[in-house]
Amino acid sequence: MRLPASLLTAALVAVPGLTPAQPPAATPLQTDLLAHLDAAEADLVKCNQDIWTYAELGLDEHRSAARLVKVLKAAGFRVTEGVSGMPTAFVAEFGAGKPVVGILAEYDALPGLSQDAVGARKPVAGRGNGHGCGHSALGTAAVGAAVAVKAVYDKHKLPGTVRVYGTPAEETLIGKVYMALDGKFDDLDACLHWHPGTKNRVWPGSSKAAVSAKFTFAGLPAHASGSPDKGRSALDGVELMNVGANYMREHVKESTRVHYVVTNGGGQPNVVPASAEVWYYVRGNTHEDAGTVFDWVKDLADGAAKMSRTKVDVRVDTDCHEIIPNDPLTKLLHRNLVRVGPPKFTDADRALAKELQAPLRGDFGLKEEKPLHDVIEDLPATPPPPDGGSTDVGDVSWLVPTGGLNTACFALGSPGHSWQNVAAAGSPIAHKGMMVAAKVLALTLADLLQDAEVRKAARADFEKRLGGRKYTTRIPKGQKPPAAIR
Ligand SMILES: [Zn+2]
Repeated sequence: MRLPASLLTAALVAVPGLTPAQPPAATPLQTDLLAHLDAAEADLVKCNQDIWTYAELGLDEHRSAARLVKVLKAAGFRVTEGVSGMPTAFVAEFGAGKPVVGILAEYDALPGLSQDAVGARKPVAGRGNGHGCGHSALGTAAVGAAVAVKAVYDKHKLPGTVRVYGTPAEETLIGKVYMALDGKFDDLDACLHWHPGTKNRVWPGSSKAAVSAKFTFAGLPAHASGSPDKGRSALDGVELMNVGANYMREHVKESTRVHYVVTNGGGQPNVVPASAEVWYYVRGNTHEDAGTVFDWVKDLADGAAKMSRTKVDVRVDTDCHEIIPNDPLTKLLHRNLVRVGPPKFTDADRALAKELQAPLRGDFGLKEEKPLHDVIEDLPATPPPPDGGSTDVGDVSWLVPTGGLNTACFALGSPGHSWQNVAAAGSPIAHKGMMVAAKVLALTLADLLQDAEVRKAARADFEKRLGGRKYTTRIPKGQKPPAAIR
């Protein structure tokens, strides 16, 4: 059944006597979508568990991408693999013509976070990585939502095209940035995303922009004790640059973040290091802010090279934008989140979450009362401050109206990228959160295909927020994505 556009849009604004806790009765299309996802739950849980077990790092997610592609091909999607120069990136679609609505899937894990799905710290033997950001569930629910819409597409005579983006290496802000530079999002009318979180809420705010770059210093090798005067230390260059960055901190906006790791500091102490490398992330609340501070960091590198009589090369791996929020999409997602309702956690889920919280109470004084978020957070009256993290969803949001949500997949109060989140992501806690996300996304995809008014409103909000700003990048023109990030 096709709902009149005006009816769908009308439901986005407050209706007297109709609070968000009482959404209107489900349409036959919505009932079919939710029934499809209930029937698909076991398969989707298995898909999450497989990707959670593979735990592959960004640009190396071969099995994880193939697992999602398998689901999409079995459902009859047209799939293109290895897009935009990344073997683990893919685009899958069904339907035809306009509108074209996208949904973003991620599936990369994090290094050093191996952890079993249990309530105490327990790395898994033979596995170094872990899904501490829950991207195993993220990719699975995005694919599940699109497959659900395909299942009802013909019966309900839906218009347009649904496209799933398999976006690798989110943790290093690579996949969507290079897909954006390759024009992959240019014909979208709207795009949806979600992220496993500690709460059930739409995502009305922004994120930090980030530049990721590697600075490689080149010196001259020499015996560090016998002939140090004949050597020039590349490591000195790195250290002087880092000292400069730590003095710079006081004089940039407080919202700035600058962090680095030394990825090559030389071989052993008795050889003056001829080569050394430091990897920087420079972040700000806007792309402009991050860029301004990054330009200063580049000057620090040049100064450090001068001081150490070495040479420095910089490679910008990525230049990621902050999220441009979108009110009409946020409200539409919120309405569908209220319709689906929060995850229905069991006592066993709450017991596991309590165990996961215990060390957080001890180490960090965590005060959370409840183990799991089992309600839906109201839409905030004013936009929240930008999230402390970055996501390359931001780059998509600069090109097309984009909206997203979180669902409770982790214990309340858990920090991001923690072993606690790896454990929860492989447990029934995340399975329940993931299914809520898949349902909300499926309902919202269907709304966006049918409702020209909400698409128009989303586009207008997008244009207003961009205010004529254009998508620019510090990545050199024509630069290919890195083959590996480390
Ligand atoms: Zn993440």
